[in-house]
Amino acid sequence: MSGLVVDLPGPAGGTDFVRVVDGVSFDVPPATTVGLIGESGSGKTMTANALIGLLPDGAETGGELRWRGEDLLKATPARRRALRGHEIAMIFQDPLAALNPTQTIARQVGEILRRSGRPRDEVRRRVVELLDRAGVPDPATRADSYPHEFSGGLRQRAVIAMALAGSPALLLADEPTTALDVTVQSRILRLLRSLQDDDGLAMVLVSHDLRVVAHVAQETVVMYAGRVAERGPTAAVLHRPAHPYTRALVQSVPAVRTRTALASPLPGTPATPANRPSGCAFHPRCPLARDRCKVERPVVREIAPGQWAACHFAEEVLSTEEVRHDAA
Ligand code: SF4
Repeated sequence: MSGLVVDLPGPAGGTDFVRVVDGVSFDVPPATTVGLIGESGSGKTMTANALIGLLPDGAETGGELRWRGEDLLKATPARRRALRGHEIAMIFQDPLAALNPTQTIARQVGEILRRSGRPRDEVRRRVVELLDRAGVPDPATRADSYPHEFSGGLRQRAVIAMALAGSPALLLADEPTTALDVTVQSRILRLLRSLQDDDGLAMVLVSHDLRVVAHVAQETVVMYAGRVAERGPTAAVLHRPAHPYTRALVQSVPAVRTRTALASPLPGTPATPANRPSGCAFHPRCPLARDRCKVERPVVREIAPGQWAACHFAEEVLSTEEVRHDAA
């Protein structure tokens, strides 16, 4: 995507709009996972919703969303529906909400296959294969279970099987492990990693949890108040952040240890797109902020090979002590 903009209707109505995604650019090559991280209000979920074509009513968009040569922002609603579930699929945070409690898992996983007119026995065979691929044990039997008969981890596996049913090339995962306990979380993350490595899926992983992103993503995009603060190879972004916000984010996570200090909470409250400070949106919370930061919005620029940051003083940030992420 290039310069993606999403405006949502504001509380005053009429011409009042809030820019919730403001000029976001990144690529998702095949067999690569891009982690989208940031606090709530950072625009990461809205960016994923723009990719899948599920923006709220009244949303206006700008920039480009290129998929296989086509600008999805110019595609008709019918074309977006045709792509959804087939070329681009999404898995959500709460597997229970994504499943219909009155239908068997087999029926729900097989729905997209039935709609494409495949014979019944072929649909059944494929459903069992998909459940097996997603790590559901004894899939031939468990396929006939209802969602309430599955544990939280199994339900998320069923949702992943549903997402894979349309043979997507791009999988969007919005906080896919947040509702799960830690052991199940790491199993689901291993599954997502194998879908990328073995099946060549491109993936966008939305998470507020830096450890999740460190586990799966090769590339990381850090968002703040609807804008990209930093992006680049995950190892570089986590080990050597070039943006003070990324650095604060890394230092706020207990599993992320610096050489000099234990985890420290992020200072201040997050800026929101509706209440975005002037200049650099991070300036009220930034320990390095100077007068220039209050008036001049920093552009996203390449600070090191492949590593981009929106900070007037990114070189200074990079030259200070390295931050080490144990999970990366
Ligand atoms: Fe901090 Fe200024 Fe960089 Fe913004 S531009 S992150 S306020 S130093």
